[in-house]
Amino acid sequence: METNNKMSLTMKVLIGMLLGIGLGLLINLVGLNSEGSFVNTYIVDGLFLVIGKMFVNALKMLVVPLVFFSLICGVCGIGNLKTLGRVGSKSFGLYMMTTAVAITLAIVIAATTGIGEGMNLASTASFVGKDSPPLTQVLIEIVPSNPIRAMADGDMLPLILFAILTGISILMVGRKASSFIEGAEIANEIMMKMVTIIMSAAPYAVFALIAKSMAELGLDLLGQLAGYVAVLVSALLIHLFVSLMLVLKLFSGLSPVHFLKKIRNAQVFAFSTASSNATIPVTLRTVTERMGVNNSVASFTVPFGATINMDGTAIMQGVATVFIANVYGLDLGTGDYVTVILMSVLASIGTAGVPGVGLIMLSMVFAQVGLPIEGIGLILGVDRLMDMIRTAVNISGDAVVTSIVANSEGKLDKTIFNDENAGTESIHLDEKVEQELADTIKKTHDTA
Ligand code: ASP
Repeated sequence: METNNKMSLTMKVLIGMLLGIGLGLLINLVGLNSEGSFVNTYIVDGLFLVIGKMFVNALKMLVVPLVFFSLICGVCGIGNLKTLGRVGSKSFGLYMMTTAVAITLAIVIAATTGIGEGMNLASTASFVGKDSPPLTQVLIEIVPSNPIRAMADGDMLPLILFAILTGISILMVGRKASSFIEGAEIANEIMMKMVTIIMSAAPYAVFALIAKSMAELGLDLLGQLAGYVAVLVSALLIHLFVSLMLVLKLFSGLSPVHFLKKIRNAQVFAFSTASSNATIPVTLRTVTERMGVNNSVASFTVPFGATINMDGTAIMQGVATVFIANVYGLDLGTGDYVTVILMSVLASIGTAGVPGVGLIMLSMVFAQVGLPIEGIGLILGVDRLMDMIRTAVNISGDAVVTSIVANSEGKLDKTIFNDENAGTESIHLDEKVEQELADTIKKTHDTA
């Protein structure tokens, strides 16, 4: 019974997405979304905006407490520094490797198709490159001078560091801290339940988010930049379905078919929010409850991946580099391509998984190889849609590496991974348990 409910939630989310695409495109094509019109004011920038933003806020609301508590539990669950170091270095290595594969693939595909050659496209929007932080600053800021501020700002790497140090210190304190660990475990479980509650609103929220994006974007721009979009989307799909699945199979022997089925929900969230960070609660839930990854690994690799691993973004950068170079008739040599690969891999480390950040990183890459930054203006119009697709690829990469690392550490339950219905529990309130809890609380009050 419960299983059916949850399966229907996944279905509902997909239906919400398709209806959102349909309605949004309709609004755009019929021209109902013009500035100041009823539909624009009350529906697109009213209802859709409010529902979508409330939902994204709700997801973001969970990120900091969820990452903090689950990482503390994770470190305590791993139990020793050697294993922690091993999980850390394995995931870091794999994240860098998959990103390098992604961008190399993108450059090869883009260069063979020769997109942008002989094209004389006038820039429709100007782009002023924002400065990306220098590497020194990125490194310094990994250590938070004030952990509360890092939490308030949602800065992932400092938060991860602080939570890991807390976990390690708890281990060093030993038995005296056991009730603290228990508290963190309970807090973690409570946060996971909150994810379930918020996800139950997902079909409507996904509908609103997508309908709004589509109503605003339409398909006109896609036509103008058809070559760029086609090559980019193909490269993203090839990476998702071929390279990442090969990596999964080769390094863990796990079934790509099961993986792809189970990751779908998280992909829809990433697609609707265009933010790996906001998707962390869903990715975390997917890998632990649907794929059987132990929290001790997932609590570390998922937020870490959302921050440093961006395969989809790297692919966009590779394709955009070749495209813009061709549009401006500039020749890039092998050395330049190697620079692009290195820069993209490095740039992905310090930049958070939030919407649009890929473009900021792109200006850094362009500056390095001497491509005109204003070239980014050419692809600006379609970037939001591309961002949605590449974010879905980004979080898929996080989940692939998480499964591989967990499997290699003996921290992946294959029965759960292979069980189609695992982790599809929906909101469930047990009236008897509720009543017992209420009675206990009442008794405590009465005796006090
Ligand atoms: N939106 C992407 C993410 O959150 C980053 C980007 O490519 O802009 O993963």
